[in-house]
Amino acid sequence: MRLLVYHEAMRDDEEIIRLLDEHYPRDISFLPVISPFRFLVTVMLSASTTDKQAEAAAERLFSVFPDAAAIAGASEGDIEALIHQAGLSRTKARNIKGTAAAVMRSGMPESEDELVRLPGVGEKTAACYLVSVLGKPGVIADTHFVRVAHRLGLTDTEDRIKSAREIRMKYDKALWSRISMTVNLHGRKVCSPRPKCSECFLSHLCPSGKT
Ligand code: SF4
Repeated sequence: MRLLVYHEAMRDDEEIIRLLDEHYPRDISFLPVISPFRFLVTVMLSASTTDKQAEAAAERLFSVFPDAAAIAGASEGDIEALIHQAGLSRTKARNIKGTAAAVMRSGMPESEDELVRLPGVGEKTAACYLVSVLGKPGVIADTHFVRVAHRLGLTDTEDRIKSAREIRMKYDKALWSRISMTVNLHGRKVCSPRPKCSECFLSHLCPSGKT
């Protein structure tokens, strides 16, 4: 793994990223890619809820409206009823229908610019799609990522947009996806909201570690 190291203070960061890379499996995924469109919708559904709830809501939605054409032709009320368990269902239904209509007009997005022009698709959702569907570099700054990256001192902020931009500024593009996925997984397994520092293989490097 090659890193762009700009100054001495980045040495610990480099070691943290190396250890994360070494510790976690190569293939990390949090949501299944059943189809590109369904993946995009599932990530949209995952805003402010768990992946499990988002997947369950997607399953209900796609069992009735199986593709972009069907969702574009559905009423917002019908979509809302099917995705209710994912929360924020009125807004999500409007955005999902709008995204389906855009996909029917222009095809599936192939770049970040195209992704963020879709209704309800922000930088995080765009990064998930870039990384998981298109295999392109991206920083997925979700709740787990921003919490853990900040605790580890990889970023100076817990603001999602600034956190992702800091990582993009500091590290080689080739590392973005791997950093995102390993930091995220560390947040799910060890560095949860109540961190298990005594079990953490990064505690000797972490500025927030508690013994
Ligand atoms: S030492 Fe604690 S705060 Fe730091 S990364 Fe590990 S679990 Fe998180």
